[in-house]
Amino acid sequence: MKETVLNIGFDDTDSPKGMCTTYLAYKIVNLLRKEEVEFLDFPRLIRFNPNIPWKTRGNGAVGLKIKTKKPEKIKKRIRSLIEKFSDIKNGANPGLIFYENEQIPDSFKEFSKLALWKLINRKNVKKFVSEKNLEYFSLGNGQGLVGAIGAIGYEFEDNTMELLSYRKKSNFGKKRKISKDNVRIMQEKTFPNTFNSFDTKKGRVMISPRGPDPVFYGIRGENPESLFTASSIIIPDEKLDGYMLFRSNQGTSDHLKNEIDVSDMKPYTSGTIVGIVSQKPKSELGGHVTFSIVSKEIEVTCYVYKETGMSSIVMNLIQGDKIRIGGGIRKASSNHPRTINVEFLDVLKLKKNIILTNPICEECYKKMKSKGRNQGFQCIRCGKKSQKKLSRVIPRKIEEKIYIPEISAHRHLTRPLQRMGRTNNKKFDNSIPWYKIFKN
Ligand SMILES: [Zn+2]
Repeated sequence: MKETVLNIGFDDTDSPKGMCTTYLAYKIVNLLRKEEVEFLDFPRLIRFNPNIPWKTRGNGAVGLKIKTKKPEKIKKRIRSLIEKFSDIKNGANPGLIFYENEQIPDSFKEFSKLALWKLINRKNVKKFVSEKNLEYFSLGNGQGLVGAIGAIGYEFEDNTMELLSYRKKSNFGKKRKISKDNVRIMQEKTFPNTFNSFDTKKGRVMISPRGPDPVFYGIRGENPESLFTASSIIIPDEKLDGYMLFRSNQGTSDHLKNEIDVSDMKPYTSGTIVGIVSQKPKSELGGHVTFSIVSKEIEVTCYVYKETGMSSIVMNLIQGDKIRIGGGIRKASSNHPRTINVEFLDVLKLKKNIILTNPICEECYKKMKSKGRNQGFQCIRCGKKSQKKLSRVIPRKIEEKIYIPEISAHRHLTRPLQRMGRTNNKKFDNSIPWYKIFKN
């Protein structure tokens, strides 16, 4: 029998109430191993535009690339797993795509790129699927087809890895017990090759979700070795079912690579804008901050949530500062015009903050008094005169550098500071234990 390369993409199988697309991937990989397929890459976990309104938790889709002699049997079995494990009654809209070819067409790649920063409506997806006569399966409204196509088409320029461990079914929904100290120590030992594991500021464990989904923890990092080391330091209080490694675009700022068209400002678009601060920052009730910038002669309102930890930094901007911001467009509400929610601030050029004050008398060291408009200044003690005001440069409390949110406010795609300028593209190595089910 002839071997064929099969690409599998699926998304939106989970709901806020339970399950998880990565867990379904873990189940599917288990099935594929039994069918003795050849894996051609790590399972890929691709996060798409986080600023669309109907994402579940992280808008993450999964892709698999395998070589098999019995594609039809495998497709059938995957389809039934998706049917069985998708949380449709709680709002999941799963989509599944099969694409049988070694090479991925450019159209898939372009589609994937758009899904990173745009809102792709379902009509366009259906058009894509029917024009290319793709093999697909969807339930609910089929929204998951966006991620399914995207996960197949995604091209890595940089990647991180995530080791996700899963609970035994009998523990689903129970409180996860995980030692804070172990996670803190794990971070100290493995940082920067792992990231966002422990929030030292808040003393919070970041690797463990709180919801009812099957994930026990997920450790993010740069390479498999660091993740295995990190994982060995965490000693869970319960017997786990197993784990799987994913290659991911998490931590790559992938959604903020394009420039936002300020003349359009389509809601739910993500990207960057370069502009000059035109209205100085104002703090709102609740501690959120708004300010405006002008870009290409258009004024854009910027919004910084208090939770990002950037609001106090942003307060130091003044009119004339040149900045680049990244974020997502939020549609107008009753309180706000259309705004961009700031996810990073890159200060490109600070304006000198000069204030003018009345001159000081060189004899008496007293501030001179104004004699009236354009009349100059005079010392009231000795009568000495001066024409010019005194200019003073006020030191700026903000630097020409990039500011990102505190880690508690990071999204999956937020590029941590230590990853700035870093790129990985590790070759797949099937000899490393990237998938494991623990024996009892
Ligand atoms: Zn004087």
